[in-house]
Amino acid sequence: MPTYDFTCRDCNHSFALLLNIKDRDKARCPICKSTSLVQRFTGLMYKASAKTDSGGRKSCSGKSCGNCAGC
Ligand SMILES: [Zn+2]
Repeated sequence: MPTYDFTCRDCNHSFALLLNIKDRDKARCPICKSTSLVQRFTGLMYKASAKTDSGGRKSCSGKSCGNCAGC
């Protein structure tokens, strides 16, 4: 289950919630119970996968280098 980071528009409280994607609309501020939230993308998971991707293609020039499966 992914963690979503939110900032409350009403009281400016920042917090993280564990939510199913389908339950994201039910997120509310634990302080003032407002549902007026801004979702913040920390992107930890995206960064991790991007790092893996670029690392795997580091030696590839992007043309037919013959050294990787991507060419
Ligand atoms: Zn709030």
